Amino acid sequence: MSTTDPDCLFCKIVAGEIPATVVASDERTVTFMDINPATRGHALVVPRTHARDLLEIDPEDLAAVARAGQRLAKVSKATLRADGINLINSCGAEAWQTVFHFHLHVIPRYADDPLQLPWVPSAGDQEQIQATGAELKEHYA
Ligand code: AMP
Ligand code: ZN
Repeated sequence: MSTTDPDCLFCKIVAGEIPATVVASDERTVTFMDINPATRGHALVVPRTHARDLLEIDPEDLAAVARAGQRLAKVSKATLRADGINLINSCGAEAWQTVFHFHLHVIPRYADDPLQLPWVPSAGDQEQIQATGAELKEHYA
């Protein structure tokens, strides 16, 4: 039995209360096409059970979403002849999340598509990288 939020757009899609182009579903997840596709084939995988984001989702649901995302990546590559795939999740408004029901974007990539990496890679401060790594390591229980 999955938990739903009556005000949540993606819960309504999961429940079939608002239309979506569903391409796959299983016991824990539903996969449907994004209405504002970044590229041809852009789809979203969501857990049936409402969870706000990466920090709230049940790890078993997260695993099921990852499996469904991998399956779609393989199907997209074969069917749409994608050259690559991006899996993207945004956790929190500051990280670009706009719909607060966990979702994994599966974005097929094509050699000639217009998408760009949203940051410019440049060498970081080694001391700071190590200090931050040490800080994180210390807080693993
Ligand atoms: P995010 O900005 O990472 O929270 O992603 C939300 C995504 O949901 C966006 O890519 C939207 O285009 C997509 N979206 C919003 N409403 C719908 C809808 N009714 N059906 C399908 N996708 C939607
Ligand atoms: Zn929801």
